[in-house]
Amino acid sequence: MSETASTSDVSFTEQLYLLSTVVPFQGRRVNRITQRWLLGRMRLLDGIALLLCTGVKREAVAVTYESTGAGIKLFYCKNRPCDATEKSYAAGLLEIVKNAVLYENCVVSIMDYIIPECQSKIKSRLGKLVKEVSKLQKSSPGGKISVSPSANFDKHIRVTLANSVPSDMSMESFLQVVMDFAEKLPLDNFGLVGDLMEMTYFIGLARDIHTVIPHPALVWRLKKFGEFFGAAKNIAWITLFDREVSARKKLITLTEICPAPPVTETITGDSIQILNRFAESIGTEPVTLEALKTAYDDFQAPPGLPIEANPEAFKEIECSVHCELTLLVFMVQRRLETRKKQYVSMTIELGTSKSTCWTCQAYMNHLESCYATPINCDIPHKSLHDLHCVVSDYSGKITADWRMPTYCPEKNNWLLPGALVSIKIQHILAHIHELQQCDSEWELCSNEALPDGDDYMEMASDSDSTTIIGMGDIVTNGSSDDEFLKQISGLFLSGMGLNRSDLRG
Ligand SMILES: [Zn+2]
Repeated sequence: MSETASTSDVSFTEQLYLLSTVVPFQGRRVNRITQRWLLGRMRLLDGIALLLCTGVKREAVAVTYESTGAGIKLFYCKNRPCDATEKSYAAGLLEIVKNAVLYENCVVSIMDYIIPECQSKIKSRLGKLVKEVSKLQKSSPGGKISVSPSANFDKHIRVTLANSVPSDMSMESFLQVVMDFAEKLPLDNFGLVGDLMEMTYFIGLARDIHTVIPHPALVWRLKKFGEFFGAAKNIAWITLFDREVSARKKLITLTEICPAPPVTETITGDSIQILNRFAESIGTEPVTLEALKTAYDDFQAPPGLPIEANPEAFKEIECSVHCELTLLVFMVQRRLETRKKQYVSMTIELGTSKSTCWTCQAYMNHLESCYATPINCDIPHKSLHDLHCVVSDYSGKITADWRMPTYCPEKNNWLLPGALVSIKIQHILAHIHELQQCDSEWELCSNEALPDGDDYMEMASDSDSTTIIGMGDIVTNGSSDDEFLKQISGLFLSGMGLNRSDLRG
């Protein structure tokens, strides 16, 4: 492998595309928020983002806020600029909240308002729930999904859903009815859709839910569908019962932060061709499609793009700055501008309608590392430092439709998403070459000798540099893995004119 990695002939989008077909999942991570109040607030922000999801497939919304003496300013944003209808929908939702008087009425008003507008997202979540129910029903004797309601569960459901459960109905029958109901639900009956959301929300809330319904995938789907009701409930509760919010509810504003418009990028060639162009650019041996398939079980030829040699193959991908990053950059710049204050708050809470992807996570880590200490700022005691981005969880997913925000401080270049993506591809090549070498030597070769793709971010957070990026879990690898990672990172860093000692400072 060449020490000076130049990958200019493989665009960043092509590199992301390659990873999204070879190692699409990097492992879900839940942001370990320990403070109850913060957890509650993140749930609220996630809920607001969810209720603003009125667009078609793959819509994503992010929400953040700023609370000052002048009021509560909520900011939201999508992956693309909102049109007039979307802005007016958001304004209408805010009006309901501002005019709320009675809790129950407020919940109902929110549900009546959002269900017809969020249909696309609702249909998608219901579809996934129904699929899970059908799958389990087919594999269960007599078509009945096995459940084992407890006395606790019985009490919880009868209290929270008093009007929906006849007193002589057993909890087992109730759960079967709910699941049949989901399967046959007419989507144009908004009242029934709302009822099902309420039921699934309270079912999902039961403390012993995983023993009552011993099917984790089904529980997950029930909870996801119930989230719309949970969001409406949270918003109504905070608006009316939180002292700080209820006293100032007329002073709440909701503003769209307009993102950069998406751009269309062209991918030339299929995954193996991109991988080999990359290999060539760094002066390493090409690999075969067979070797790639053998090394990565997840690898699949994406639909619409032939994987067999076809140099003419190309594909267009619409890439956008993901909504949470547009908001993050907006808030960082806003706080840097407010230098009149002696101390600038450094935690930015970002509610999202879907979990934050791997590449956004990498950008957040980069930005946090740039604003880790006041030394990075020209007026230290008046500037932003100790930046902390809070999101509920990370999906660990790599998608090709990602674009870097134009705002990106250049410090700690080695942590930029572009650098991490390139390192991951170098790892893929190294992994395939290693396997081939093992094969040719007729040796028993274990994949465990090499860490999975995700470990580069882990690597960056090993003992030398933990404080810089503050990722979630830190893997404690065996010594052979450590050695391997150090070798690879040494090569990579020398290519960037850095060495490990630079990372400590
Ligand atoms: Zn993202």
